[in-house]
Amino acid sequence: MPKYIVVAGGVMSGVGKGVTTASIGKIIQEHGYKVTAIKIDPYINYDAGTLRPTEHGEVWVTDDGGEIDQDLGTYERFLNLDIPKRNNITTGQVYKTVIDKERQGEYLGQTVQFIPHIPDEIKRRIKDASNDFDFVLVEVGGTIGDYENIPFLFALKSLEREIGKQNLSYVLVTYLPIPSHIEEMKTKPTQQAIRLLSEHGIFPDFIICRAKKSLDVVRKKKIETYANIISEHVISEPDIETVYQIPLDLEKEKLGDKLLKEFGMKSKKQPNWAEWKKLVENILNPKKTVKVAIVGKYIDIGDYNLADSYISINQALMHAGASLNAGVEINWLDSKMFENNKKKLTELKEYNGIIVPGGFGASGVEGKINTINYARINKIPYLGLCYGLQLAVVEFARNVCSLKDAHTTEVSPKTNAPVIDVQPAQREILEKNMYGGTMRLGAYAAILKDKSKVLKLYEETGRLKEDEKRIQELMKDKSQAFRLGILEKNKKTVLERHRHRYEVNPKYVDLLEKRGMVFSGYYMRGDKTRLMEYIELSKNEFFIGTQSHPEFKSRLGNPSPLFYGFVKNCNK
Ligand code: GLN
Repeated sequence: MPKYIVVAGGVMSGVGKGVTTASIGKIIQEHGYKVTAIKIDPYINYDAGTLRPTEHGEVWVTDDGGEIDQDLGTYERFLNLDIPKRNNITTGQVYKTVIDKERQGEYLGQTVQFIPHIPDEIKRRIKDASNDFDFVLVEVGGTIGDYENIPFLFALKSLEREIGKQNLSYVLVTYLPIPSHIEEMKTKPTQQAIRLLSEHGIFPDFIICRAKKSLDVVRKKKIETYANIISEHVISEPDIETVYQIPLDLEKEKLGDKLLKEFGMKSKKQPNWAEWKKLVENILNPKKTVKVAIVGKYIDIGDYNLADSYISINQALMHAGASLNAGVEINWLDSKMFENNKKKLTELKEYNGIIVPGGFGASGVEGKINTINYARINKIPYLGLCYGLQLAVVEFARNVCSLKDAHTTEVSPKTNAPVIDVQPAQREILEKNMYGGTMRLGAYAAILKDKSKVLKLYEETGRLKEDEKRIQELMKDKSQAFRLGILEKNKKTVLERHRHRYEVNPKYVDLLEKRGMVFSGYYMRGDKTRLMEYIELSKNEFFIGTQSHPEFKSRLGNPSPLFYGFVKNCNK
């Protein structure tokens, strides 16, 4: 039976419960155990697909096509795992299942009630995601004291009773403020959070104290007295420069050994943090720093939410940089300023590389196309992500293939050169199979072209081998096999995640190829239509676009091949 570590948050939100959960997972992993993590989101939305990214951060996409809260991304980045969508449990999913079951008569005439049916469904989902793991981290979203948390805390208490306290441990992550007018660290809000949790019959086994600084002995003792928890289980987690330092800091307080001891267990292997430490050191003190411009549509995004809306791109650049011992300075440029003012484009000269990220709609599109044109002509390393590939195709069609009206039908539905278009059959297939309506969502297999730059990067980073293994795993599941497409024998095949509707129009592929655009990978749909997944230009040292979102598969110590290649070229 797996052991459970439940992580809940006290005092306030936004103190880093997700990264703490991921860090605990990383630590347990490093001690030799198989770990997974579950995120509970107490909102009614079924998933994060319809949430506004500017409010809630980026939508994370899983291999199996889930649109999820970004915490799952944090877990994947720390644990180097592909986590399925069932590891995200929302109130909406729980209620929907219970109501659907009731409608189908599965409760055989019982009165369906909050207790026991809702907690039972929560427990079923938790157990379902726990198979085959030694340890399961369960992060309860929100803050203790929120009304929405109650069913989940009830369910976890009930799980504890079922499996025995020896198999489940509670970690409370709190925040200790240091008000500027007294310059003293206050423990009172933490004491209150402990009391709120105890109202649910839950007493924390560990308290992780987020604060500007480490806790002193006096504060630890105070919490010990109040919460009846030995001060060795009161762990400091002070502010740091990069989140990847957190597992190292928590291990300084021997959290791994202490947690295992709580379960009556010992390390299976001596943790070896050398590689992780080196990567963290590279993030903190890189040998050289490259400057990257990310040119997108940033309306409605205040200064504060920008990084969160594109957190995976940020992280992917950081991971690539860490592996190459290069820092990456990111500048977010609004593409609108390149729309009517071509002179402004020369400002792009100061960057070592340019990215056009994913996006939807018409706003700022001409600015992005002008940017891509500038990068292509001036041979500035360019990486196009999803919309960034599509608009690179539009730019090339207009300026190299003389298709003046070339466009995506997303912006110009009546264009007479629809180089990017929705594929009608695609829409049908997707709708029939209910994969998120018309979106191509989740992991799709791409067959890579021999000798292409893209293939070389997947080989160089070891991802090709990894993906071949992963494909075998996914093929065991029928619905996944459908998504993956037709796999050809003896071909080099890789996996990336997708979230888009439009495709390179197969009718224009020949023409584009003739004029020098290399299609370095394609996805083979069930009806044998090839959908283009990668483009590259041989005249430019690094000009690569992908229809996918490779940023979702980037992890510290295992960077995404395209980001790795991009940063490497920026660093030349
Ligand atoms: N808007 C484009 C599409 O739907 C690109 C989407 C994206 O960049 N994620 O195909």
